[in-house]
Amino acid sequence: MVRVRLLSWHNDPSFVARSARVSGVGKVKCEKCKGAGRINGEICKDCNGEGKREPTDKEIVEMIVLNDYSSALEHIVMSFEITELSKGNACEFLEHRIASHTGRSTRYHKEIGFGFVIPPKIRKIMEKYGIKDYTEIDKASGEDKEILRLFFDEMLKSREVYERLVEIIGKENARYVLPFAAHTAYIWTINMRSLINFLGLRLCVRASPEMQEFAKKVYKEVYKVFPEILEHVWCRGFNLGACPENEVRDSPQAKDCPFKNPNSKLFIPTKKQVFRGIGAKFDFDEFRKLREKILSEV
Ligand SMILES: Cc1cc2nc3c(=O)[nH]c(=O)nc-3n(C[C@H](O)[C@H](O)[C@H](O)COP(=O)(O)OP(=O)(O)OC[C@H]3O[C@@H](n4cnc5c(N)ncnc54)[C@H](O)[C@@H]3O)c2cc1C
Ligand SMILES: [Zn+2]
Repeated sequence: MVRVRLLSWHNDPSFVARSARVSGVGKVKCEKCKGAGRINGEICKDCNGEGKREPTDKEIVEMIVLNDYSSALEHIVMSFEITELSKGNACEFLEHRIASHTGRSTRYHKEIGFGFVIPPKIRKIMEKYGIKDYTEIDKASGEDKEILRLFFDEMLKSREVYERLVEIIGKENARYVLPFAAHTAYIWTINMRSLINFLGLRLCVRASPEMQEFAKKVYKEVYKVFPEILEHVWCRGFNLGACPENEVRDSPQAKDCPFKNPNSKLFIPTKKQVFRGIGAKFDFDEFRKLREKILSEV
């Protein structure tokens, strides 16, 4: 399955705070005097009697993410190495236009013995029987065995066909028989604002499983270096405090949405529910636990 490695990044949250300060940021209440400016009649030294103080870099970054004043986040730019992404889902990846992509070329590379993505349902069957690869298909039985046979026979056959065609018509023509599952690779450069948009769309349980896995791996890599920025970032419903998927959140595709149960501690209403006066019930510590669990599984 898809692999993600953060190769490099440019700028950090202090630069984001610095650029926000150029634009201008409001002061926050002084904790020492609780905004009064005086303590027992004396002028508060922390705020010079103003009752307000300059926000810290961390506070500015949090405000930018929560209030969606996101243009300052464009100053953080990251480059990733993406490998083992399926050719098929590369189209979904490329739909995120506000980024730079350099893809592995099937005109210049011979994809002899290409690797391929094993779809989640097939992986599950393999796990059920403790099957490591196609040489062990006989461990499965009944329909499970048939599914594995159909999938792996097709993959191995397309490798054979591709390799023979490369010999006789060359790689540029032979590549048309490469399957949806065949691995491809990218170098991807994206700024933090666009990355948050990507995560918002692709961490949603309605995104395809491979794209969800991809987004979780991206999140995990970026969280290591920018935890203060990603702290308040997840799927779009989470980021907006209201899920824009509305009724499709009740579709089978969204059956695993962790935010849709009104009786849980992680309830985020849909936008339409908000308009009917239904509010969120949200326990951030519960969310942190959920996030840790999800990220530990990828
Ligand atoms: C669950 C799911 C299902 C999907 N189903 C389909 C589908 O069936 N068919 C399909 O074609 N796609 C589908 N998509 C892809 C989706 O429509 C977007 O193309 C993709 O998610 C990229 O998002 P984006 O445009 O926000 O990102 P980017 O292209 O990175 O753009 C970022 C932001 O820039 C702005 N922007 C970018 N380009 C323009 C523009 N030309 N004009 C105005 N503003 C712009 C927008 O605010 C946009 O949100 C699906 C995505 C998801 C998550
Ligand atoms: Zn004070």
